[in-house]
Amino acid sequence: MREGLTVDEAQNLILEATPILPAETISAAEASGRVLAEAIVSTRRHPPADCSAMDGYAVRRADLAGVSADKPKPLPVAFEVPAGGRAPRPLEAGEAARIFTGAPLPPGADAVVMQEDTDQGAVRVEIRSEPGVRENVRDGGEDFEIGDRLIEPGAVLGASHLGVLASVGRTIVSVHQRPRVAILSGGDELVEPDRPVDGGRIVSSNSYTLAAQCREIGAQPTYLGIAGDRPEEIERRMRAGLRADVLVSSAGVSVGDHDHVREVLEKLGCELQFWGVLMKPGYPLTFGIVAPTGQLVFGLPGNPVSAAVTFEQFVRPALRRMMGHRAIHRPVIHATLAESIRKKPGRLHFVRVSLEHGPQGVVATPTGSQSSGVLTSLIRGQGLAVIPLESASVERGESVRVQVLDAGFFDGAERGF
Ligand code: AMP
Ligand code: MG
Repeated sequence: MREGLTVDEAQNLILEATPILPAETISAAEASGRVLAEAIVSTRRHPPADCSAMDGYAVRRADLAGVSADKPKPLPVAFEVPAGGRAPRPLEAGEAARIFTGAPLPPGADAVVMQEDTDQGAVRVEIRSEPGVRENVRDGGEDFEIGDRLIEPGAVLGASHLGVLASVGRTIVSVHQRPRVAILSGGDELVEPDRPVDGGRIVSSNSYTLAAQCREIGAQPTYLGIAGDRPEEIERRMRAGLRADVLVSSAGVSVGDHDHVREVLEKLGCELQFWGVLMKPGYPLTFGIVAPTGQLVFGLPGNPVSAAVTFEQFVRPALRRMMGHRAIHRPVIHATLAESIRKKPGRLHFVRVSLEHGPQGVVATPTGSQSSGVLTSLIRGQGLAVIPLESASVERGESVRVQVLDAGFFDGAERGF
């Protein structure tokens, strides 16, 4: 098994082994955020016919050459077309028809004069402006025609996609499945949050963090509980976990006497691909594939920050790929460092930073202790400054790349325009 991969190598290896999940059919109304697994080709025309964009009067332009407020022209109101209704007959030369927004234009009419440019007469209307070509007319098929390809496979469905799906009459839609992710915590010291923590106990927080990281991107976590540091117990819980598409376990992957995760995984038929990634936090990471069923297994480090950061770098992109996303990575921005950072060359560091919009762009400030046990530092930060493997320091004022974890960073308290 390979040991000590770079972040790049580890991520490439994982993504090469990651399948895109097959499609499932769901209600279009529930499809927000899902990745489309079919092309949407229109079976309808929208709008179905020419219609009025205003409340006013349908007219024939030829009748109104040279008309203005000073030179108005009266026309008889031949009939009325309400929204949702139809014209009883074509509009003849020298006639107007009362019409409302969204109502179909009568045959023969070629423009709509808005009611503000008339005396709003019911039997006879005085027209006070000369309409332009097809003025206030919404063309039939202006949005789409029958046979138009409207949405391509791979599109991430947002609010406007759901509106378009409704317009074409699609109530069900084919999207990529969401991976089921089984989450296991391991360690004799761990207890659930509602248990007492005396006698050297530590609350298991990783399952909560990891489940939330799954949900945030639409993956479906299930919790396997806490396994004690005995191989049989780890095995029993992991077997249950292999019903999912992905198994994420945290802790027990180091080289200590009580770290049994790797041996159990091998016993379960998991082919481990590597162990150890040249990064901080998060060196002790393992990844494997269960043969022949193909589940992906991630053995994350136990320290809370290491678990969260390695999930970000390796599990999240894989889960997004499974769901059919092409944009699988977090956004990376350039920021000016507010404090110098020193490190030993040899590992890539992800330094927790808070981010602020300054006059010269974004400023990144390290959040204090970078211990992999200080989970609160992730609350204080919105991103991870990426300090390359080979570098020994980055000075205050230098530009660094920052992976933005908090999408809310791009939202604003000010309108901004
Ligand atoms: P290990 O990888 O088992 O050596 O664990 C490394 C550190 O992470 C230990 O201090 C553990 O107590 C801690 N740890 C392991 N699992 C969890 C968890 N689920 N929640 C919080 N801390 C954990
Ligand atoms: Mg342990």
